[in-house]
Amino acid sequence: MASQHYLITGGAGFIGSHLARNLLADGHSVTVIDDLSTGCFENIEPFVGQPGFRFVIDTITNETVLDRLASESQVVVHLAAAVGVQLIVEQPVHTIETNVMGTEEVLKVARRYRAKVLLASTSEVYGKGSKIPFSEDDDVLLGPTVKTRWSYAVSKMVDECLGLAYFREHGQPVMIVRLFNTVGAGQTGRYGMVVPRFVRQALAGEDLAVYGDGTQQRCFCDVRDTVRALQQLTEKDEAVGEVINIGGGEEISILQLAERIIARSGSSSKVRMVPYSEAYAPGFEDMQRRVPDTAKIQRLIGWTPRHALDEIIDSVIAHERAASR
Ligand code: UDP
Repeated sequence: MASQHYLITGGAGFIGSHLARNLLADGHSVTVIDDLSTGCFENIEPFVGQPGFRFVIDTITNETVLDRLASESQVVVHLAAAVGVQLIVEQPVHTIETNVMGTEEVLKVARRYRAKVLLASTSEVYGKGSKIPFSEDDDVLLGPTVKTRWSYAVSKMVDECLGLAYFREHGQPVMIVRLFNTVGAGQTGRYGMVVPRFVRQALAGEDLAVYGDGTQQRCFCDVRDTVRALQQLTEKDEAVGEVINIGGGEEISILQLAERIIARSGSSSKVRMVPYSEAYAPGFEDMQRRVPDTAKIQRLIGWTPRHALDEIIDSVIAHERAASR
């Protein structure tokens, strides 16, 4: 693939910084724009000073800045968003405004320069649907608007619809990915993500706080697999105009996950069950199962995940041990 200039919004975040590393290693140039609200400078520090890398601290709603950056880019990977269930429940206004206004801005400036756009969406948009696995064309079933959690799914669905509208109405090259529980080294647990939280609790000898009854199940996907998929999709013309699931294939309950992390870290921690009302807010609704159908991405780019759950857990444990030294 010829060298391209990528703009990564939210590139100082967990997924964006892994993607930047891969792109730079493959000879592409990368500009990261991030306001460091949930991303952090340490994630991109290793790239600063590398040829072809540039970091701009700003919000994506600064149109003047974003316009200039888009004018220099062939591909925009839009990852900047309010993420993490805890953050969403605590800051619903920020979540909706950031996700909807930010995406509007990205699509508007990218269109001016015909830059290809990859929009990161989420498996959250499948909501409470009970069909397993979730396929891209499935109907979605969301909870009521009075339950704050669903505002995140709604904001991401607006993003998806807007991206598809730019594709259909303006011929803008846009693709949408729905990410399922991406995890791995460097993810923060500050905004609710379960794997880094459990690993930190296990390493500190604290109880692992399992929310609800722990029977809810997830498929975790290693960030290294996720960013490989993102990069390959941006290079694939057939991905334009499509919505594409990216997720792991190994399903595990949250209680089993806690036990697995305790065992693999050699921790003496115990599991503590915490009611949802205490963990989030009264009336909080969780998804019982969330399994991706990845037939589409397999067909498009031949992608399947390479890293098994145990490997992911070990990489997070190793990263957290190194970070605490
Ligand atoms: N969870 C948990 N303890 C935590 C954080 C999360 O038991 O400290 C549960 C959460 O209720 C959900 C699952 O782990 O059922 C995955 O949570 P996460 O926020 O990582 O992702 P989600 O699938 O909710 O987007």
